[in-house]
Amino acid sequence: MGEDLEKLKQRFSLLDYLRQQNWVARPAGHGSEFVGLCPLHRDTRPSFYVNARKNLFYCHGCGQGGDLLRFIQVSRQLSFRQSLAYLQQHEAASADPAAVLEQAAAFYQQQLDRYPEALHYLKQRGLHDLALIKELRIGYAPGGSLRRHLTAQGYSCDLLQRLGLLDSQGHDAFYRRVVFSCCQGGRVINLYGRSIAAAFAHRFLPGSKGGLYGWEQVQQCPEVILVEGLFDYAVLWQAGFRHVTCSLGTHLNTYQFQQRCDRPRTIYLTFDVDANGSGQQASQQLAHRLRARGISTRGVLLTDGHDPNSFFVQGGDARQFQSLLEAAQP
Ligand SMILES: [Zn+2]
Repeated sequence: MGEDLEKLKQRFSLLDYLRQQNWVARPAGHGSEFVGLCPLHRDTRPSFYVNARKNLFYCHGCGQGGDLLRFIQVSRQLSFRQSLAYLQQHEAASADPAAVLEQAAAFYQQQLDRYPEALHYLKQRGLHDLALIKELRIGYAPGGSLRRHLTAQGYSCDLLQRLGLLDSQGHDAFYRRVVFSCCQGGRVINLYGRSIAAAFAHRFLPGSKGGLYGWEQVQQCPEVILVEGLFDYAVLWQAGFRHVTCSLGTHLNTYQFQQRCDRPRTIYLTFDVDANGSGQQASQQLAHRLRARGISTRGVLLTDGHDPNSFFVQGGDARQFQSLLEAAQP
């Protein structure tokens, strides 16, 4: 235990930790000494000193001093044992981005019920089945509270910024957004945020979106409906169509394309019918590429200006959509 503890402490630089918590410091004369306002008491003149080489701090204002674990104990009011657990979790988090994204997704899910604006927005987009909303793990980012929640669990601001959960100023990246989790192999690898206000409607975190959304559930199906948006996906689920997958846009990345070519199947393409025809054009190009790989395709023809989401929002029902599937031409 003693030796492990020393190793754990050595792995962490007190100065790095403090900086991750946004401590601002300037060098204090000698090479390895830094000074700044004390995070442990109400400080007006910088009295908090850190010796980076020795990994120790001392405050001339409140008299606190010690190593990183001591700092965590005092600043977070934890016992020694709790501080140790906190530091270990902090370390695990630094090594495992998926665990952090999982925590963020869970937090957003907890927020959904607390914000009527979010449920109102989902209703407007045709989603009213609360059990389904839970099943799809849809969440809401009110903005301004994720950072506090995750740093309290020991995740550093630096890590959260690297994952894109915080912006360069350290603020929550998602404000007033409905959030879907993109998973692969049961792990959250990205988050999609749909703004419920007007500006910048769609956002992902930096990094890979992964493969097709919901692919693992439909992989065995001989017939699969492909949609381009997550709200299309969600309303189809709500209407009872579970053999759906989503490409998160009209452009399929190489991995997504390969996923659907892994065995013979029929794919129903239901891209948006936009005024400029870009959805249909993308759909035709994709059909062509899939056929070249021996996959049969059917183009589902929605009426002008519709996508599956607006089809259901404007009163379309499962029976009508089923007729469109049956009428779909190769
Ligand atoms: Zn102090």
